[in-house]
Amino acid sequence: MAKVVFEERSDQIFEKGEDRPFRISCDKQSLAGAVSQRACVFCGSRVVLYPIADALHLIHGPVGCAAYTWDIRGALSSGPMLHRHSFSTDLQERDVVFGGEKKLERALRELIARHRPKAAFVYSTCIVGIIGDDMAAVCRKIEAEAGIPVIPVMSEGFKGNKRAGYAAACRAMARLIGQGPTEGISPHSVNLLGDFNLAGETWIIKRYLEQMGVEVVAGVTGDGRVADLMRAHGAALNLVQCSGATMELARMMQRDYGTPFLRVSYLGVDDMAQALYDVADFFGDPLMAARAQELVSRELGALYPQLMELRQDLQGKRAAMYVGGAFKAFSLIKAFRLLGMRVVLAGSQTGTEEDYEELARVSDPGTIIVDDANPLELMNYLLEKDVDVFVGGVKERPIAYKLGIGFCDHNHERKLALEGFEGMLNFAREIHATVMSPVWRFTPRRMALAKEAAA
Ligand code: SF4
Repeated sequence: MAKVVFEERSDQIFEKGEDRPFRISCDKQSLAGAVSQRACVFCGSRVVLYPIADALHLIHGPVGCAAYTWDIRGALSSGPMLHRHSFSTDLQERDVVFGGEKKLERALRELIARHRPKAAFVYSTCIVGIIGDDMAAVCRKIEAEAGIPVIPVMSEGFKGNKRAGYAAACRAMARLIGQGPTEGISPHSVNLLGDFNLAGETWIIKRYLEQMGVEVVAGVTGDGRVADLMRAHGAALNLVQCSGATMELARMMQRDYGTPFLRVSYLGVDDMAQALYDVADFFGDPLMAARAQELVSRELGALYPQLMELRQDLQGKRAAMYVGGAFKAFSLIKAFRLLGMRVVLAGSQTGTEEDYEELARVSDPGTIIVDDANPLELMNYLLEKDVDVFVGGVKERPIAYKLGIGFCDHNHERKLALEGFEGMLNFAREIHATVMSPVWRFTPRRMALAKEAAA
């Protein structure tokens, strides 16, 4: 099979060997023309801030930027739904020539009067960076008029990669933290960072923690509220799941308020249990530790027999994954192992060197590790490794289907809860359903392979 890797990208791909030293280049601009699977800076900031459900999210730019990110993070809210609107100043040629500041002012006044948000985030897009609107000045003016925080998110799409958008979002959230009262917060309390409440997953984790006697002060990035963010500095601990998106905020809170953080994952059985044990260890409370053990053994007792049944069909199958941050990939490798499957390709849009080193450590020999891939490369490796299921998001789905390969949506758009113990069962069922589906036999590639084998 012809290789499709661009020479300039060869140092962003690594195949794990038995004794080869690990080396990968990452966190750099996408190669022009390579049609990266990554999103832009603006999109990165939008997906992190999106779950703050009682805030106004106004995109200062063309309507296309707003449409592109509309409901991109399927974060559920238990109350207000303001986040689900995609407001835009809809900049036109005239605004490009004469500037869009007046239009932004008018839009903010009208939207704040109509929706009464608790805060407003104003996102800058490529065109705003080019024409040089003073968005910060407009935000200051409207903030003084309206009496709510109006926060500029400096996220011009072209000025870096999606990771820079995460950082812009963390800086915007940091402006809210520290502004609210902290009286009455339990000494056994946490904030949830980097969990986006996709399909209600924050609620699952919150339930586990509450069963252990831990108070959740703010779902910073899931079912978020402005008032909770304002008092988040009163929590004793930050739990950071999607570290690429929110580690910067955790570090800022440690620096400014002394709040320690733990990196956790709620995906798969091992990491979910470990996260609960780590929380109990942090608080050093024997009763909490006993509750955590009881919770884990109860959940596992119900889960294991069902997983083992699905494993009978899945044993020996191969999986590939291309995810946003590399941290998720560690948990998925373990989850696939529990199902008797092997991960042969693991890629990410925004992994750091540290993430990829860990990924190489937990992967099996022969696994391809790839940073900031494009559809051609992914397609090439899926065929080369003859995978049975591809785990990714909306941009990866058509690649899998066109090749006649099973697919599992593990990204922002998913509608199925995949975190926690019940999430592991959902994941296993989803993988089983897609891998074992008879439909793949009727795709052109599989039919051609079957014909070849029969000849
Ligand atoms: S790259 Fe620029 S124009 Fe495209 S969506 Fe991002 S901010 Fe908008």
